[in-house]
Amino acid sequence: MSAGLYIHIPFCRSRCAYCDFFSTTREEEMQRYVQALCREIEARRQEIPHTRVRTIYIGGGTPSLLSPTLLQQIFDAVYANYDIEDGAEVTLEMNPDDLDPPPAPPVMEGSRLREVNRVSLGIQTFDDQLLHLIRRRHDSQTAIQAVRRLQEEGIRNISIDLIYGLPGQTLAQWEHDLDTAFSLGIQHLSAYALSYEEGTLLTRWRDEGRFREATDEESVAMYQLLCQRARQAGFEHYEISNFALPGFRSRHNSSYWTGIPYLGFGPGAHSYDGLRTRRANLPSLDKYLSFYSSPRGGQEGALPFSCETLTTTDLHNEAVMCGLRTREGIDLPRFLSRFGQSRLDALLANAAPHLHAHRLILDESSLPHGGGPGRGPRLRLAESALMISDSIMSDLMA
Ligand code: SF4
Repeated sequence: MSAGLYIHIPFCRSRCAYCDFFSTTREEEMQRYVQALCREIEARRQEIPHTRVRTIYIGGGTPSLLSPTLLQQIFDAVYANYDIEDGAEVTLEMNPDDLDPPPAPPVMEGSRLREVNRVSLGIQTFDDQLLHLIRRRHDSQTAIQAVRRLQEEGIRNISIDLIYGLPGQTLAQWEHDLDTAFSLGIQHLSAYALSYEEGTLLTRWRDEGRFREATDEESVAMYQLLCQRARQAGFEHYEISNFALPGFRSRHNSSYWTGIPYLGFGPGAHSYDGLRTRRANLPSLDKYLSFYSSPRGGQEGALPFSCETLTTTDLHNEAVMCGLRTREGIDLPRFLSRFGQSRLDALLANAAPHLHAHRLILDESSLPHGGGPGRGPRLRLAESALMISDSIMSDLMA
């Protein structure tokens, strides 16, 4: 059995206008936080005994704000307490401005940091006016330089994040973003439609009428252009919002979609035992610190997490949602073995109108000789239906 580890670094130098992730600007707590984090990493090792870790993802927030020394402490705690597979995928999220010298890039400094073999850069757009509007701290040149710098540092697996449907963004601006991204020699692209989350600055500005939201037609046109340009650049569209050159899919994110167990460390991080239990660490730095960094060795005060036991219907719905997100779709023999014939029959009955309309595809090409989970046949979304995936998924849920 294998598992993934997610490590949350909840610090940001300032808040971006669209973001509702759990993070704080209290950088003075960083050192105390890393000590607490290392305690959580150590305390939870029994949750995945006899399990090899195949992916480590350090996300945020802004992990690249950590000094090499603090990052090293985290890696030391991980490698001391878990069985890390040789060749594990180790991803570090970075912001482009943290690669703008000084300071020196922390990625390759220190022995354990050499384990980082994948970097995910939060670029969002190469348009300087839009970057300024959404309150990113870098400009387009800094973003381009950051990719080049990582390449010079020997990082051979670089992913970038882009957002489309930004306020006032035209199709031509989006095309420029895509052209720039694919000209940089990256291996992976995550591209998301802007969503207006409650409580963010951007949502307030929209509600005040400062700009209008992109229409559905504009978003669809941008998504279609994204799919087309990615295809032309040789990227496979392996998940609704994710594109990769062959061999460069995100193994870590793929484990979320395929039900592999993962442990999430830090406030706001989620964990899943691969069976029926999901754990959510509360999004509170103070509660986290008081639990894991008390003078008597940690784990005091109110529990900084909650647990949920998933019902069979929850698992059925997750299998539908996660399966349809991916290019492989829902593995029907596996669905049958997990949920039984009557749920499979219901799934196929609900899928029938969408199959008839070619929004869903029953891919029998991978039918196994001799059967067995993981080898088809599969039910997957047609690429043309990916933009309306939500409504199709809800039709297939129990
Ligand atoms: S988008 Fe990233 S850098 Fe910006 S506030 Fe959110 S977590 Fe921080």
